[in-house]
Amino acid sequence: MARTQSFKTEVSQLLDLMIHSLYSNKDIFLRELVANAADAIDKARFESLTRPELAREWAIRLNADKKANTLTIADNGIGMTEEEVIENIGTIAQSGTRAFLKNLAEQKTAAADIPELIGQFGVGFYSAFMVAEEVTLLTRKAGSDAPAVRWSSRGEGSFEIDTAEKAEPGTEITLKLRPGSEIYLEPWKLGEIIQKYSDFIAYPIILPVTKTNEDKTETVEERVLNSRKAIWLRKPEEVTDEEHKSFFSHLSNWGGSEYLKAIHIAAEGASEFKALLYIPATAPFNLLMPDIQKKGLQLYVRRVFITDECKELIPDYLRFIRGVVDSSDLPLNVSREILQENPQLLKIQKAIVGRVLGELRKMQENEPEKYAKFFREFGRILKEGIHTDRANQEKLKALAMYETMNNKPGELISLDQYVQAMPPEQTEIYYITGEKRESVASSPVLEYYRSKGYDVLFMTDPIDDWIMQSMFQYAKKNFKAVAKGDFELTGKDKEDLDRKIAEADRKYADLLEALRKALGEEVATIRFSGRLTDSPCCLVTEGHALSPHLERLFKAMNQDVPVTRRILELNPDHPLIAALENKRQTGDGAIEEYARTLYDQALLSEGSPIPDPAAFARRLTELMLRSVR
Ligand code: ADP
Repeated sequence: MARTQSFKTEVSQLLDLMIHSLYSNKDIFLRELVANAADAIDKARFESLTRPELAREWAIRLNADKKANTLTIADNGIGMTEEEVIENIGTIAQSGTRAFLKNLAEQKTAAADIPELIGQFGVGFYSAFMVAEEVTLLTRKAGSDAPAVRWSSRGEGSFEIDTAEKAEPGTEITLKLRPGSEIYLEPWKLGEIIQKYSDFIAYPIILPVTKTNEDKTETVEERVLNSRKAIWLRKPEEVTDEEHKSFFSHLSNWGGSEYLKAIHIAAEGASEFKALLYIPATAPFNLLMPDIQKKGLQLYVRRVFITDECKELIPDYLRFIRGVVDSSDLPLNVSREILQENPQLLKIQKAIVGRVLGELRKMQENEPEKYAKFFREFGRILKEGIHTDRANQEKLKALAMYETMNNKPGELISLDQYVQAMPPEQTEIYYITGEKRESVASSPVLEYYRSKGYDVLFMTDPIDDWIMQSMFQYAKKNFKAVAKGDFELTGKDKEDLDRKIAEADRKYADLLEALRKALGEEVATIRFSGRLTDSPCCLVTEGHALSPHLERLFKAMNQDVPVTRRILELNPDHPLIAALENKRQTGDGAIEEYARTLYDQALLSEGSPIPDPAAFARRLTELMLRSVR
């Protein structure tokens, strides 16, 4: 006997909103109904494990009937009894609807956002009313004697429910389309929506398509709309390299199918998700290109596509990773706002970061060449994490690689390797920052370290200076910028050096004064130091000042930077100093010219531009003339 029942008030309100929603993306109704169908098959398939008679050839079937103006979505899943229909779809005793409406009222959600919120509250079924003026649901519970049930509604306050006949267990939902929604009868449109949102649903989504033959007869062809390639749900050992390549090139948008490593994650417990991530083999031509700046991973919820760029799944410094995350815990149709604060996503991100860093560490230890290749491509992005991800800072420091003074150009070593190679008396990790290897390698400030056999890390990435601001120590050893701050020795060496400098200060007091006067504001000060062995002079930066390299970078970006005046250090042992003092005493030659040349030379030797190259050349010519005459 057919009975008419009223929807709960909340449901009526919801339906009213749905029907009058101005939201343009009505396509998502199909995603919701297909996801429900797939869930229902999941349940039946699970039951069939213990009750083999329930097993079927699982499938979701669509049928578009243009004459009747109906779209049908049918599954051979678990189905529902009458009580279940009323419970799940009729009255919605579930808190979902109420919570949904409460949310709408409180947040004053714009009508346009409603469909984005639908799935989140478990009311996806009702999205059918966005495109249908009448929805009929015919269902029979699998493995039960309960009769089949027909439920139908026009979404206007009430629904009808009756027992019915249905041969196969499962659910069939028929949508009588609203005027203007006829597009959902077009095979291409259905194919497009399925490929976009449900391509990786594990069961075939079948659409019969009628074809007119040349002799005017018609044949019906069954088309499977989804590829079902949920490659991330398969056992890692069963996925071939070829399949990985094609999937990776589908995910990465800078071309090429070469990946260095595929990482499968199957997380259980607090947060249940599967993920398949790729470390690409090569960076795009320009690392700053928007393609790689595009951040995030693809997010699926139970094989249903949610979004292409879920930023919350991966931190910025791993933005070169491409992949898919398929969560079992998240609601379908999660909105942007929900993604932003979602604690589930944060848990997933944490797990992903842990796993990716672990895999990189393994690669670094077991496949050093492969890791070096990786680091050359993406190291400068990864290193950002040292500054931004304090929780993983130590792991990230260990992953960083550098060229050094004692290694060949292009060869990279880790901080562990550096520390292991330190002679016992060396207490600090030495580094120098600069534009490129050639300029730092010839810097005079390295002379002392070279003479002692210590190694110096070459930091030539633009962001190294910035990163070093948060890299104070590694393996309990302090970092020391060799071109910054005071040059200090310890013990007996210190006493000897202090004595030597005191002596030079006395002996050359007037020369220092003359040089200071000549260079004026150009430098912060001029002093003797023990840093140099071969060169007469060099420039160093005060402890906390910007390095000249960073200063140039900021200027290039049109940023205001305080002018950092640098310190000109002189080598007290260099014969040039004694010769200059001699010139000064005899009053023979302008000390100012010499001072300027000394300063320019110091700039040139560290790879910095000189303020007036023409003047430098002129002075050099003068000096040469004097010496050859
Ligand atoms: P959600 O799927 O998010 O729970 P819906 O409003 O889409 O919310 O569906 C409500 C409930 O109705 C589902 O949880 C499920 O129990 C039942 N249901 C919907 N579609 C089907 C189907 N095709 N087969 C069996 N049960 C279904």
